Amino acid sequence: MKSTVGREEKEVFGAYLSKNHLKRSEQREVILDTFLRSDRHLSVDDLLQMVQKRRPDIGRTTVYRTLKLLQSAGLAQELALDGQSRFERDYKREHHDHFICKSCGAIFEFTSPDIERLQDEIAADIGFAIEGHRHQIYGSCRSCTSRASRAEARRSP
Ligand SMILES: [Zn+2]
Ligand SMILES: [Zn+2]
Repeated sequence: MKSTVGREEKEVFGAYLSKNHLKRSEQREVILDTFLRSDRHLSVDDLLQMVQKRRPDIGRTTVYRTLKLLQSAGLAQELALDGQSRFERDYKREHHDHFICKSCGAIFEFTSPDIERLQDEIAADIGFAIEGHRHQIYGSCRSCTSRASRAEARRSP
């Protein structure tokens, strides 16, 4: 069952593994393939669950270690959220930032040329050389906000 999903990324990972004298194991390939089929921001346990549908013998440690390898290989980006890391595809993706709902954990991506330009200007003003940035903006998503206001309405007479 060879799939063509993320063929380029699989080549990049293969090259990374051999450069670092690491084994190209079947388990790692299943994990990578499963990861590449998702467009979400996955926690280790999210990915573990998906992987175990295909290979119940693959454990959490292997999934975690493989994600860290994908990160070093430039294929995954880690978002350090409150209490839990999430991973998303990073290979040849445009830079983007995140809104994170603190109630349900939903994550929304955004890019703003205005914000990017402003921070470049501010950095130039103070002579700061930017290497990268991550905006993680916390709050409530639309459905959590409306659920909260419905609950509020029920409480008041
Ligand atoms: Zn929410
Ligand atoms: Zn993202």
